[in-house]
Amino acid sequence: MRAPTVRFYGGVREIGGNKILIEDGPDRILFDFGPSFDPRFEEYYLDYLQPRSTSPVKDLLEFQLIPWIPGLYSREALAGLSERYEPPQIHAVFVSHAHFDHAGYLRYIDPEIPVHVGGGTRTILDAIDSSGTTSYGEHPWQTFGGKRAIRVGGLEVVPYPVDHSVPHAYGFIVRTREGSVVYTGDFRQHGPRAALTAEFVEAAVEEQPAALIIEGTRAGPDPRKNFTEQGVREGVDGLLARTPGLAMASCYPRDVDRLGTLYRAAVDSGRDLVVPLRTAYLLGALAGDRELEVPVPGRAPNLKIYRRPKKRYATWEQELLDEAVDSSWVRDHARESLLLIDVNQFPELIDLRPEKGTPYVRSMSEPFSEEDGNDRVLHNWLDHFGLRLEQFHASGHCSGAELIEIGRRIRARTFFPIHTEHPEAFEGEVENVRSPQKFVAYGLPDGREIA
Ligand SMILES: [Zn+2]
Repeated sequence: MRAPTVRFYGGVREIGGNKILIEDGPDRILFDFGPSFDPRFEEYYLDYLQPRSTSPVKDLLEFQLIPWIPGLYSREALAGLSERYEPPQIHAVFVSHAHFDHAGYLRYIDPEIPVHVGGGTRTILDAIDSSGTTSYGEHPWQTFGGKRAIRVGGLEVVPYPVDHSVPHAYGFIVRTREGSVVYTGDFRQHGPRAALTAEFVEAAVEEQPAALIIEGTRAGPDPRKNFTEQGVREGVDGLLARTPGLAMASCYPRDVDRLGTLYRAAVDSGRDLVVPLRTAYLLGALAGDRELEVPVPGRAPNLKIYRRPKKRYATWEQELLDEAVDSSWVRDHARESLLLIDVNQFPELIDLRPEKGTPYVRSMSEPFSEEDGNDRVLHNWLDHFGLRLEQFHASGHCSGAELIEIGRRIRARTFFPIHTEHPEAFEGEVENVRSPQKFVAYGLPDGREIA
């Protein structure tokens, strides 16, 4: 029998878009399936110009923005290319966490292929799906907890919870006939659940794996400021104490830890945290999650829901409108409010009329480049209203130095850096670095290319 192999269909020299196929004899499993943050995508598709919903995979394949993997796509997703449809040849898909770049293309997968996600990830994906942002499609969903082995044919997959900027993120240890593969997913050591990451790394060290597939988001030059979650809290506390009127902030919509941090900072400074409908909906969906301490709309004091004027509200929104507040309420309660407002809701500023010098806390990562179009628009609006930008963010990712340290401890026979623009940053720092090429099969246990 042919040696087991690892093959990368995405996440190669790019941040996001990991698509990792592990094959062992007849068994084939795919890890993660979402779009990358490849600037090449925006060479063809932009906000107003998207693949047709009637032939999405065809329109993405045209520019190689999605890989061709036989027996993966559904008949429906392959509309316009039906001659290329093949019955499922992938036996399971595992999703490391609920971020778009890891789960955003699940809807194109054949509805017969089982999709394995953490229980909490399922809740988050459901909330996003039913609030109309992204559809993940119909699948035979399988949910896992932590550290219990799942068998797929002759392969064994053990999910390990890790800390990341969305709750319920996992790394995996995959056991093949010829040694183990450790896949980190996205992870960090400086967040509120750092202990989980430490346990995963420990287990990976003991496993003496043939291959370590490690994310490298922050490898190489990284001039961006990074705080711990506690550091973010202290920064925001100080800022709220110094601010006599309204304060505003934005964070990633699924960064539930950050929502908690901003909520507690608001409460301790005598303010209400005022959140958009979508955030309120997600917090409501996570109300029963015993591993998280989220403020629940309708129950948590000092949590208010902001309603933007809309011609028509979706059903999921209508249920939240009763107690929602609007721009005039926030204007009247400026001193008692910390308003969460994203750039895409900035037209509300025209009614909110914040005072000059009002702080706008960006609690998400700084732009990747000076030419970032969104960043230019953000600054135009802030300048127009005389708002002050403050940056407090704890990254969801390990620093480059931490990744090197982790690689040296795990001592895999092959070290595959992915989800990074700088795989070369590991060369000479960790042994056996192999910067993978897209579509090439690497054999186990030695990581050699297989023709
Ligand atoms: Zn990612």
